[in-house]
Amino acid sequence: MRDVNATEADWGNAKSWWRIMGNLNLAHWIIVGASLAVTLYGWWVSQTQIEERARGRFERETTKVRDLVLERLQRYEDALWAGAAYVESLGGDLSVDEWKAYAEQLAIDKKYPGINGIGVIHYLEDERSLAQYLEEQRVLRPHFKIHPEVEIGENWPISYITPVAGNEQAIGLDMAHETNRYTAAKKARDRSMAQITGPIVLVQDAQQTPGFLFFVPFYEYADESADERKFRGLIYAPFVFKRLMDGILARDFRHVGIEILDKKALMFRDVSDGDLWYDPEPLFSSVETVSVYGREWEFRFRTDLKFRQDAGSTQPLIILASGIMVDVLLLMLFASIMRSSKRSQLQTEDLRRVQAELSRANEELTQFNYRTSHDLAAPLKTIQGFVDLAKLDLKKQDYESLAHMIDRIGSQAKRLDDLVKDLLNLCRIDHVNTDLEPVNCKEMVESVFESLSALAADHDVSMRSECLIDEPLLSQPSRVMQVVENLVSNAIKYSDAAKSERWVVVRFEEDFGDWAKIEVEDNGIGIPEDVGERVFEIFYRVGNNSEPGSGIGAYLVRKHVDALGGSVHYKTTPEGTCFSVRIPHQWTKRK
Ligand code: ADP
Repeated sequence: MRDVNATEADWGNAKSWWRIMGNLNLAHWIIVGASLAVTLYGWWVSQTQIEERARGRFERETTKVRDLVLERLQRYEDALWAGAAYVESLGGDLSVDEWKAYAEQLAIDKKYPGINGIGVIHYLEDERSLAQYLEEQRVLRPHFKIHPEVEIGENWPISYITPVAGNEQAIGLDMAHETNRYTAAKKARDRSMAQITGPIVLVQDAQQTPGFLFFVPFYEYADESADERKFRGLIYAPFVFKRLMDGILARDFRHVGIEILDKKALMFRDVSDGDLWYDPEPLFSSVETVSVYGREWEFRFRTDLKFRQDAGSTQPLIILASGIMVDVLLLMLFASIMRSSKRSQLQTEDLRRVQAELSRANEELTQFNYRTSHDLAAPLKTIQGFVDLAKLDLKKQDYESLAHMIDRIGSQAKRLDDLVKDLLNLCRIDHVNTDLEPVNCKEMVESVFESLSALAADHDVSMRSECLIDEPLLSQPSRVMQVVENLVSNAIKYSDAAKSERWVVVRFEEDFGDWAKIEVEDNGIGIPEDVGERVFEIFYRVGNNSEPGSGIGAYLVRKHVDALGGSVHYKTTPEGTCFSVRIPHQWTKRK
């Protein structure tokens, strides 16, 4: 349960995330990396396809618009050539009424909505032809005059225009009065081709928007073979650019704006930054120059916001987002697999450790069984021997020897008793009262001295205590007592008979921090240097030890000190030994 909670907490913790990621191996990263690469590739392909589709649409729309403009001009050109053919069929000239009759049947307002009318310009090459022309025109139109006056020796007056209404100002206007019109007119004559002027503002256009004139030459033929012909004038049509463009792929149905320029002069524009759909940074734009009847027209196209909106697709984003999501899930999956495998690895290690501890404990138990059976059996056998000897003494009525035998039986029984006590203490080591209670060190040491007084008297050892802790300390009294008792009993047992005075001192004092130090010092025989920590091993006894003992005392000391969370060490010389125990404690006086 604890582990599950820890796992949940881990997922929510950024540091743990990095730790989990760190657990992934190269193969995991390669798989996630490859999946990420596929996602990015899919995203890129989809993005590119959408972009190419949009570009295709842009190119189709621009081509269509340009072709429609050119096609429309072509239709107008055809109408003008038809007019020229008509005039030529009449011998190269015609009257105002004849032209009116012809032009009206063209129904230009319906069929050719882009032009304001269709008319005839006569070419008057000199004074003589001018005079003759004016005479002829004034037959039907007495007030006809050419304007403005031009001093170049030739005239290009607009003779007729249909419809007249709205075009009144154009009648009689001399094309030679202004370079743009004059140049285009001459080009049409000299090249025998349809020509248009550069941008002009038509006299007919009340709104003064850009427009141009479209010229087609007509001739008078000298004979049927048409080898010899004389240039007589032009059929012309005035265009207001806006009207020409009207209806060309209605603006609502296309999302590409157009600008048309003639030598940098703007002729038409249906896009401006005030428009609702104007895109300041268009997705696509292009510039194309097209030769149109002697002029170079620059078509500029740019997409608008609606185009951008239609071209946009969420598909690449969906591909990218879902791909990244899959990658994250993959990462999480790998991390969780690694986590569980790491956990089971740790569990296996734990199991191995427990197994090792168990087998060590088992070995200790076997050794313990062997030693205890041996140690119990030895005094029993000795007692048995002494009992047999005592029986013989009784038979011989040797009461002195009998008394001696009984003493020896007694001391062996005591040895057996000590051993059993030690064994009992050993069994109880994990079952002592572990409650923290105040330990009055003075009283405790007194009680230990009392229980060991006979042993001390036997070895002629004086016991002294130095209790430098006034207040009781909090600890487990039974453990502290067994520690002190075992150490003092060893200090007495291993006292040095060769010394004139034998003593043991028990010292309790405060140590750094919240620790207590208990020292048991003697001037006994000391412990050989090479013994070291083995003193604390179970059943260990130094050399040929003549003192009765089981080799359990020092082991019990270490066990109790460990249980108290402390430590035990000793220093020894032939002059004596000092065991030093440190145990952690909150002094009751500070509580
Ligand atoms: P024992 O029952 O033999 O006393 P312990 O485990 O208490 O067993 O002690 C192990 C051995 O360490 C003892 O046999 C003794 O040789 C040595 N020893 C312990 N304490 C002292 C001491 N204060 N002075 C000298 N030798 C000691």
